[in-house]
Amino acid sequence: MPACPDDALPIDFSSPARRVLPHSGVAIALAVAAFAAFVWPAAAQAACWFDAALTQQARQIAQRLMPELQTVPEVSVCTPEHFPARVDGLFQGGANQIFIHQTAVGPRKTADLLIHELAHALIYQQFGPQNFAGGHSPAWMRLMVRLGRIDDARFHASVYPEALPGFQQALAERTRDEPWGGGGRPPASPPTALAAAQADLRGLNCARVLLVPPQGGAVVYDLPPTVVRSLTLLPFGNDRVRSIRWTSAQQIEVVARPSDDGTATLVCLG
Ligand SMILES: [Zn+2]
Repeated sequence: MPACPDDALPIDFSSPARRVLPHSGVAIALAVAAFAAFVWPAAAQAACWFDAALTQQARQIAQRLMPELQTVPEVSVCTPEHFPARVDGLFQGGANQIFIHQTAVGPRKTADLLIHELAHALIYQQFGPQNFAGGHSPAWMRLMVRLGRIDDARFHASVYPEALPGFQQALAERTRDEPWGGGGRPPASPPTALAAAQADLRGLNCARVLLVPPQGGAVVYDLPPTVVRSLTLLPFGNDRVRSIRWTSAQQIEVVARPSDDGTATLVCLG
């Protein structure tokens, strides 16, 4: 599966949405199949396995973005056989499980996928099964727009034409309510990117933490000889960092775009 298979679609996003892949219209059935395969593996190489780190990441994201989620799903990683083409994440309501495609696990992608699937989990827990537009119901659209995941919501409204009115309605409600004068509960002012990154950092075990300055551009960091097994961009779901590469045995270069709110973000080296 290519890194960004949805690039092939005639949609121009420069946002995280291009990395959040559409669900199939039969996502729920496929997720059930995926779960069945998890229990009764059909082939030796097809497998799903519980991922403690992703489950912990999902809990942290849920705590910050969707505190009303009653039970945070466990997260498993699965081999490609469990997913239809172009699908990197599935939520299975009955088992309260999120399945992430093996090749989608990475610092730049999993947070986006987890937010998307956690939104499905919250809507499932609030409204029950949503057999509409692959689960991308008006309630899901409203939640995603409220969370600021507008490009992801718009992308799925383009994949599922029946989901478009729900997306447009959610956008209209957001516009009408801004600045939260529509009678609803005023939300707490969102934390800065840096404050959110520091909050997310608390649950992680980082060997080193890199501060990505707000102005963006390329920054080189000197590191002692370090074994880096994982890179996690903080806050979860942010997409400032364009590339990370070793420039020498003890130097790492991070290229980032400017911060949205003028505060720094972080990279956890695990
Ligand atoms: Zn979805």
